[in-house]
Amino acid sequence: MPKAQAREPNERANAVLAPGLYVVATPIGNLRDITLRALDVLSAADLVLCEDTRVGGKLLAAHGIAARLERYDEHAAERVRPMVLQRLVEGARIALTSDAGTPLVSDPGYRLVLEAAAQGSDVFPIPGPSASLAALTAAGLPTDRFLFAGFPPTKTAARRSLFEELAPIRATLLFYETGPRLADSLADMAAVLGRREACVARELTKLHETIVRGSLTELAADPRCQEPKGEIVVVVGPPAAEHISLDQADEALAEAVARLGPSAGAAEVAKALGLSRRDLYARALVLKGAKR
Ligand code: SAM
Repeated sequence: MPKAQAREPNERANAVLAPGLYVVATPIGNLRDITLRALDVLSAADLVLCEDTRVGGKLLAAHGIAARLERYDEHAAERVRPMVLQRLVEGARIALTSDAGTPLVSDPGYRLVLEAAAQGSDVFPIPGPSASLAALTAAGLPTDRFLFAGFPPTKTAARRSLFEELAPIRATLLFYETGPRLADSLADMAAVLGRREACVARELTKLHETIVRGSLTELAADPRCQEPKGEIVVVVGPPAAEHISLDQADEALAEAVARLGPSAGAAEVAKALGLSRRDLYARALVLKGAKR
């Protein structure tokens, strides 16, 4: 077993850090959800970039760390990025954090990482919490394939069109959502994605942590999902293709192909049943050949 390398707080600031950009995950609620390595990096970095320096300062103070902080949010990014890239060239050790969880996951940092890597600076991930993965692990839904889709659009038409795009994908879907929009979003998911099991994970790792499981229709009507307070992840299980027999799929395919032809017919059935369009197209050709 590898030896643990725990450090005392005063040792942390002396941790030897290679020059580069450190992408540091921070807690999503409970301040103790931070790794020892994240504390080492935050203590020894020359500069810590925070979305909001008050939030970052509070986290560092809770762990007894004094660091130089600089705001790096979507407004400051354009102005601050050239300075950060220049300091990386000069050999600085710079930590990028966000208000909560993993930077770049529905948070700023993508362009900075892209440009830092492009100029040859080292980029080190310092992994830790993300609300998306925390929700996935508690949802009780399949985890073998999942797709993180961030915040759905706020307008109904755009939101439904996103759900239509995601409907045929055979994977668990993860969304970030806000309290005021949750009920409408769940109702649109139920209308477009149909009968699927889902989970609403609210205020994870915090005092009012709540995990509600049920079908999308049940969740859309659940009193706990009507404008709840706090931060929310919605996890939606994959389409229930495994419950569709080959005969049922063939029947739907034959009907659609007779109406639309093999290509459009396969596409329609793929979307409706959550099956692979390519597999259905191949099957449509087999069925057509068998008929001759
Ligand atoms: N980078 C963060 C991460 O890795 O989780 C996410 C940042 S995004 C701007 C903020 C959204 O994440 C919230 O609106 C909510 O949907 C979700 N979120 C953050 N903390 C959460 C928590 N403790 N419980 C549930 N959802 C949370």
